[in-house]
Amino acid sequence: MTNNNIQTLLREIPGVDSLLEKIKNSPDFKNIPLSVVKSSIREVLERIRTSILNGVIGEKEVYCDAINDKVILHEKIIQDVLIYAKETIAPRLVPTINATGVVLHTNLGRSLLCQDALERINQIAAGFSNLEFDIKKGKRGERYSAIEQILCELTGAESAMAVNNNAGAVFLCLNTLARDCEVVVSRGELVEIGGSFRIPDVMEKSGCKLKEVGTTNRTHLRDYESAIIDKTALLLKVHTSNYTIEGFTASVPLTELALLGKKHNLPVMEDLGSGSLIDLSKYGLAREPTVSDVVLSGADVVTFSGDKLLGGPQAGLIVGRADVIKRIKSNPLTRALRIDKLTLAALEATLNLYRDEMQAIKKIPTLRMLTMPFDETVERANKLINDINLKIESMGIEDRVVVGYADLSSRTGGGSYPEYSIPSRCVTIDPKSISASLLEKKMRLYKPSIIGRIDNNRFIVDPRTLQKGEDQIICNALADILNRE
Ligand SMILES: *Cc1c(COP(=O)(O)O)cnc(C)c1O
Repeated sequence: MTNNNIQTLLREIPGVDSLLEKIKNSPDFKNIPLSVVKSSIREVLERIRTSILNGVIGEKEVYCDAINDKVILHEKIIQDVLIYAKETIAPRLVPTINATGVVLHTNLGRSLLCQDALERINQIAAGFSNLEFDIKKGKRGERYSAIEQILCELTGAESAMAVNNNAGAVFLCLNTLARDCEVVVSRGELVEIGGSFRIPDVMEKSGCKLKEVGTTNRTHLRDYESAIIDKTALLLKVHTSNYTIEGFTASVPLTELALLGKKHNLPVMEDLGSGSLIDLSKYGLAREPTVSDVVLSGADVVTFSGDKLLGGPQAGLIVGRADVIKRIKSNPLTRALRIDKLTLAALEATLNLYRDEMQAIKKIPTLRMLTMPFDETVERANKLINDINLKIESMGIEDRVVVGYADLSSRTGGGSYPEYSIPSRCVTIDPKSISASLLEKKMRLYKPSIIGRIDNNRFIVDPRTLQKGEDQIICNALADILNRE
């Protein structure tokens, strides 16, 4: 394109004010703030300008026809401004459909809250509450009073508190109990949880010195004992919840470490990570120590997450001996890590369900998904296959896909069980007109976003992690995507 042509095209671009005048009374823009409309106009005009300068417009692009007709051109620009403005004000944090079968999916928000928790959040968020007010005494109360008693009841601990998340809980405990001192920990337990949570890094930031003992695969009681010096302040065990070491291994049971702690007058802490309150082995999952097990084994302080196996809101729970918890509560850092009232409301409601185990299993989404029997996944997979087939037949596009099933496995995820998998019947979707990976992408970009996985060149939907009504959305999305191919 010649320079002259470019100049002519550039002159066709309308000004911000003339577009604004046209848009002002358009019902399409009624709920879009003026500032957003203005910035969207500028953005769209800038893009057109760039396209012209790059020689795209005037040759092959959509604006090609429009550029010769002012009315069409303005309409086209206004359409694009509307799209851009709507995208600008649309929420970035949006619901997604988890078809991966990973129950505690860290990237997809870990635990879903139970209905009771949602209702309590609504109540507490909308009004004033006794968050830090003792109603009986008529004076300042403690933030933890909503959950302390029930946590003690459910775990057998003497005292309890909660902070923002478990990484915070570990940090706070170490800082309180061992700042400027040494913490003895086994080399086999120096874990990285994901994101950037590494036990050694957190320890360093909390002001204590790590004393590593033993080897990656074997650590003995004598290793701990010979590491104890005057500057030792804490013996730490970290539950290796996201991996297992197999083969020639040895680790020291907490009961023995607790006795060693007593002998040397040192507190013993366990970072349990996932922290289940009930024994899930009854429901076919692997046996993992529960929080009560750890308390009973003699740990002076135990930390665990609120939104892993517990199935509540993001929180870091700390339970243990009364005098130890008291020290932690009075650390000024609790202020920086404190749990907020919405979380507290949700946590109290979730914990309350644990007073009746069957109720907890039924009502807490994480537990319901984890304990869903294989037969139920078969039922749900069959229903989804049937729904998809009916839908694509009704649209006459049944030749574009082969829908079947495969017996695969779901995973607990979220650093909760060591690579533990649960048998699950999954729906396999094998598109004929596009590749499985393109289908995966299209499902992911769909609104709402549907996150699945690829296995053996098929798109996999695991019914275990699907919530009510999501089958239908998947069915419609798939039909919609295939229909456009
Ligand atoms: C997950 C985990 C943490 C971190 O907990 P968050 O709630 O994610 O902060 C710490 N320690 C262990 C052993 C964990 O498994």
